[in-house]
Amino acid sequence: MIDASKIKQLANLIEKASEISIVTHMKPDGDAMGSSLAMYHFLTSFTKCDVRIVLNDRYPANLAFLVHETALPDIIVYNENPDAGVQRLNNSDLIICLDFNAFHRTDKLEESLTYSSAKKVLIDHHLFPDLEHFVLAFSTQEISSASELLFHILKAMPQCDGKASNLPMKAAEALMTGMTTDTNNFNNSVYPSTFSMASELIAIGVDRDRILFNLFNRFGENRLRLLGTMLKDLLTITEDGVAYMVLDKEIQERYQINEGDTEGFVNMPLSIDKVRMSLLLKEDGDRVRVSIRSKKGTSANRCSRLHFNGGGHENAAGGRLNIPADIQSISEAGEYIEKHTHIYLTQEHEA
Ligand code: 5GP
Ligand code: MN
Repeated sequence: MIDASKIKQLANLIEKASEISIVTHMKPDGDAMGSSLAMYHFLTSFTKCDVRIVLNDRYPANLAFLVHETALPDIIVYNENPDAGVQRLNNSDLIICLDFNAFHRTDKLEESLTYSSAKKVLIDHHLFPDLEHFVLAFSTQEISSASELLFHILKAMPQCDGKASNLPMKAAEALMTGMTTDTNNFNNSVYPSTFSMASELIAIGVDRDRILFNLFNRFGENRLRLLGTMLKDLLTITEDGVAYMVLDKEIQERYQINEGDTEGFVNMPLSIDKVRMSLLLKEDGDRVRVSIRSKKGTSANRCSRLHFNGGGHENAAGGRLNIPADIQSISEAGEYIEKHTHIYLTQEHEA
């Protein structure tokens, strides 16, 4: 399923490199961290390269279990140390980009990525990749996650010789984690190849129970209390079958919500028969982050591209509303959603 000539090119690029940086999208989620850490452990196990992961933002606390103490010093967070992030990208000779399709998805790393003279490789599963920046791109949408794509790539590399059992265990665990979060634990975007990957990883000893426990059973009480309030008081469903919830700063502070705590909430309203599309908005400084999920037949991606300054996958997309360009304040978010999703579903969305 992976082009053998591209594997050869990747192996050559890695062999010639001495400083490799791994980059993923801003506000990294399970797939972003899983694929980045897997690449990191593969490279540090099999090569003598100097390897760093450069993040725009620190990963959420619920993914800390995945970051092994050997990897911790090799993670540079731009928002905590901008100079180190910029310097690292400038000095790299190879940059491997995981789980995003365009440099602006890395937020403040965009400029350094654009101007770094490093060779750049893309490994991603989003629609419409910006291919012109890359000397080599692995990009497909017929796959669950960047972690799954990377699994098939790493397995095909000469170091693994087609056998999952040759993967470093830490890489294998990271790949299982990324696939699990991006599929919502096998709820969406699952292909035959996804089950094959899971099966092979369990066969080589990946402890899936431990991963599930860490991902799903270690949240604070506040997260469930917030969910109760959201479903009871903050959920609106429009005549067009659009469900939306808006989390302003006040409610995030009241429930002491951390990054990662609201993961998965946006999917819940899709369980209602009449809901075609669900949106979750979170106030975040001078912008509002938007998550969109849709049922088959309705494109979250297109809606996000047209009305929410974003994109993503057909049924799972993200974007943002800018204050004051799109709305004057968070209190106008509901009105904006109702107006724009109505236009989208009645005038712009081809069935
Ligand atoms: P989430 O709602 O989980 O943040 O994002 C859903 C999907 O859309 C993810 O695959 C994510 O990478 C993608 N996504 C989120 N925000 C954006 C955005 O602003 N632009 C694009 N192109 N994709 C996004
Ligand atoms: Mn992903």
